Amino acid sequence: MKLATFNHNGRQYVGIIDEKVHVLDVADMCALIHRGVDDIGSIVTHTLERAEIELLAPIVHPRQDIICLGMNYLDHEKEAADFGGKAFEKKNDNVYFSKRVNRACATGEMISSHNDVTKCLDYETELAVILGEDLYKARKEDCYRAIFGYTILNDITARDIQSRHMQFYAGKSLEDSCPIGPWIVTADEFDQEPDLALRTFVNGQRRQDSRTSLLVSDIGDILEELSGYMMLKKGTIIATGTPAGVGMGFTPPKYLKPGDEIISEIEGIGELIVRIGK
Ligand code: MG
Repeated sequence: MKLATFNHNGRQYVGIIDEKVHVLDVADMCALIHRGVDDIGSIVTHTLERAEIELLAPIVHPRQDIICLGMNYLDHEKEAADFGGKAFEKKNDNVYFSKRVNRACATGEMISSHNDVTKCLDYETELAVILGEDLYKARKEDCYRAIFGYTILNDITARDIQSRHMQFYAGKSLEDSCPIGPWIVTADEFDQEPDLALRTFVNGQRRQDSRTSLLVSDIGDILEELSGYMMLKKGTIIATGTPAGVGMGFTPPKYLKPGDEIISEIEGIGELIVRIGK
């Protein structure tokens, strides 16, 4: 089941997307996550045509920072190490960092080049996990039941800012640089560890082409480890890392510039498209 947040006639709604849009009687996606999707048909209020809505990010205002993994595909770890600098040294354990998101961008949105602060804006297509239950000190086999669904996240990154500071936080958190979407697909549509094709196209050129089965640390391992440290609240968004083919991996690097269109595609979910503005 595809669950989306959207605008219709100037108001924001949540609904089930198929060939139509089935509007739900909930305040927002976080409220739906808290409610759960059991007997979801009982809260459908009316049905719209797809052309009548404008998609927003499925969770427009995440309640907490996004939890991200760095270097969780071996080929990306290598390209990052080749890029050089202390920030990209090989690590034996998972690399966790967070990404501030005041407002998640929607598919189709134009985002700023931020060229007043960076000359090295980059893309990272990632499978994002959304939790539907709190998890604390959970065993791996129990973590999967807590997954509400999956979406696509483009972890837009300013490489120069990422490298300059000791931690990734600032370079990952430029305003309006976290596109998420186009919707959440509920976890029941996927295997326990989904093996999905993941691709990125910049102006039609294929840059990333991998599979989520190539995650170094799989989703169950990530949830078990993180929940061993902290309570992961329902609604938490975890970006599982990106494969090789980001702009910094090329010689010379292929950073984003105004006018570029980035399509992030994950099998079974869809396409998340953003354009770079001025
Ligand atoms: Mg990333």
